[in-house]
Amino acid sequence: MERLFKVDDELMGVDGALLRIEQLRKEIEHHSYLYYALDAPVISDAAFDSLMRELELFEERYPHLITSASPTQRVGGYIGEAFAPVQHLERMYSLDNAMNEEELSSWFDRVESALEADQQSLTIEYVCELKIDGASIAMTYKGGALAQAATRGDGFTGEDITANVRTIKDVPLRLLEDPLHSGSIEVRGEAYMPRQAFNCLNEELELEAEHTGRQAKTFANPRNAAAGSLRQKDPQISANRKLATFIYAAPEASTSALGLSSQWELLEWLKASGFHTNPSLMLFKERAGVHHFCTEAIKLRGQLDYEIDGVVIKVNSFNQQQRLGYTSKAPRWAIAFKFPPEEKTTLLNAIVVQVGRTGVLTPVAEFDPVEVAGSVISRATLHNIDEVLRKDVRVGDTVVIRKAGDVIPEVVGPVLSLRPSGSRPWQMPTACPSCGSSVYRDDEGSGAAVRCLSAECPAQLLERLNHWVSRGAMDIDGLGPKLIKKLVEQGYLHDVADFYLLTQEQVALTPTGEEKYARSISKEKRAETGDYEKIPVYVGNTVAAKVIAQIQASTQRPFARVLFGLGIRNVGRQVAEILVQNHGSLEALAAAKQEDLEVIDGVGPVIAHTLKEFLNTKHNQDLLKRLSERGLCLKEESGLGAGGSATGLGVAGEAGAGNTLPLLGMSFVLTGTLVELTRNEAEEALRALGAKTPGSVSSKTSYIVAGPGAGSKLHKAEKLNIPVLSEEDLLNILSKEELPDSSRA
Ligand code: NAD
Repeated sequence: MERLFKVDDELMGVDGALLRIEQLRKEIEHHSYLYYALDAPVISDAAFDSLMRELELFEERYPHLITSASPTQRVGGYIGEAFAPVQHLERMYSLDNAMNEEELSSWFDRVESALEADQQSLTIEYVCELKIDGASIAMTYKGGALAQAATRGDGFTGEDITANVRTIKDVPLRLLEDPLHSGSIEVRGEAYMPRQAFNCLNEELELEAEHTGRQAKTFANPRNAAAGSLRQKDPQISANRKLATFIYAAPEASTSALGLSSQWELLEWLKASGFHTNPSLMLFKERAGVHHFCTEAIKLRGQLDYEIDGVVIKVNSFNQQQRLGYTSKAPRWAIAFKFPPEEKTTLLNAIVVQVGRTGVLTPVAEFDPVEVAGSVISRATLHNIDEVLRKDVRVGDTVVIRKAGDVIPEVVGPVLSLRPSGSRPWQMPTACPSCGSSVYRDDEGSGAAVRCLSAECPAQLLERLNHWVSRGAMDIDGLGPKLIKKLVEQGYLHDVADFYLLTQEQVALTPTGEEKYARSISKEKRAETGDYEKIPVYVGNTVAAKVIAQIQASTQRPFARVLFGLGIRNVGRQVAEILVQNHGSLEALAAAKQEDLEVIDGVGPVIAHTLKEFLNTKHNQDLLKRLSERGLCLKEESGLGAGGSATGLGVAGEAGAGNTLPLLGMSFVLTGTLVELTRNEAEEALRALGAKTPGSVSSKTSYIVAGPGAGSKLHKAEKLNIPVLSEEDLLNILSKEELPDSSRA
């Protein structure tokens, strides 16, 4: 594989390199936290490794910039507070990687030249093992009985997970034979989650989420699921997770106490003592055998019930291992030959077209279900017509699928040699698949969008209704996409203004589309069949009353939310705020000329144009009139107009705009990833309520808002006892414009 980056110091200079090094370290630390602490990575391992590679190259070129805190010098890991710390008597290391055959050959060269230097006739044996993609564990046996189990942590200190490891069925609680009698033996290996157990677990988590109405917290892959399951506070949960182990190592103190002199002997001893060892292993004297093992392992990969991400090659003799020693984070006597990112082929059955809220037609590939990177997928977006044509994917093609960032399914491209004869390039329909209206290509903005312009399009209507009730817009709880679809089918909803005409009775009597078994009403029939019959399930009064109350409550939302809720193209939440800040009412917006709007900071000609186009359309004017009649707020409540006070997620009012701003005098620091809002949106919204949003934590910080990936800022805040808020807390504050619990400030 060719190297993707080169460090060009002539172009960059040392300052440029230092800047890049710092960026890379920060980014790597952020992803390490998501991966090791939260078991929730957001980029693929391949992408992570490539960042690490780039950092290594920079550090090779500028060794004086290496610090002991650099991720290249440390074993990645996390030591949480939920478990007691365990000091490893001998350090646990990571492994260096060889990303291709050449890098593997260079490792052989390094090993051989290091050992040749002090040996006359040299025989080096290599043990090849599969690299199990799980979580590293260390287990100590005292007097032959399992006494303690720990995670790798940072290599020096791990977490005490004894109670959880005891629940793993293939872990022997007693050694079959204890050669040392009362002595202590430590063994090390990998706890992993079999693929089948992983799929069942994610299905269960999804079901559970459906019942509780919360978002499903599924695991991205079996490795993260294994690590997460090992670090459960309740061992019963770990027990239900069906983990398994492969044990393959022991620290030097244990191997010498056992009188073992090679990795091969150790593996034999482990097996004889009752540990689960992996059956795919081989001993070679020649490099060629090792290369061949690696090629075969790639083929084996898809057939195993557990994930492997490479082959580990170890110098067999412990004596030679000792002479080779360690780098700052890995043994020199072992290397991980990493597999290329997983890609699968499957059959493309159809390219369907979805119609979005603003009428954009998006082609979506539908293919035979295929398991990639730990989950089964059958659909992937193709984004737009240009992308389909660029990749030239056609219905009937065998296509290569992979997961970008371990999460998002992606069609890489067709396997041209398998293309059926007579296949034709895919074409975007010339009419909307939902309403049949003609479509047009719009190269404005990000380009290549094909749109349906019909205001009557049912697919767009559904998307518009869903958007209106969404959290950032009118935030109407209880009205999910399924119920909205049913209400449309009943003929109650034709546009968003119709929500405000719904009656409790109409909602209550709307069928949910589900059926339940009920006793037949007819006695005769029951006598005849003794059977139950199915009857439709209706929404019912309880839910209906809640929905109607929520709809009514939404009439109190500020004008900026209404403007955003209308789903006008290019008018996002922040733009809606800016527009309301500058032109405080619908009337003012309608009266403003396009030139007046496009000069507003953050608006510009494209948005000004689409907004005017929307407001000048008769159909939309009727809608706005009806919304006004039904009590929706179409002007800023205070009536202040430009520079006025905050409206919900408002834009910052002038400093000193009055003591009415609820967060005046407070400071909020944001850290980690936010999901619902961008960092800018959140900061602007907080400032609109009077708060300051400095970039760093100090004793004066009132609150820290921490999302996934929060790192040093969060640690500092915790040390200073600063209250920590989640994004949900933040959204609550922003929508209610008050603190959740004023005593916490
Ligand atoms: P690693 O997983 O690449 O390799 C070292 C580990 O391999 C050992 O600690 C051991 O637990 C394990 N292993 C499995 N089988 C083995 C065998 N037969 N013999 C010896 N060891 C064996 O290294 P790491 O430091 O644990 O993790 C780094 C990896 O984690 C990187 O490759 C990276 O891709 C991934 N990562 C990904 C992200 C992300 O955001 N996607 C973030 C951080 C780390």
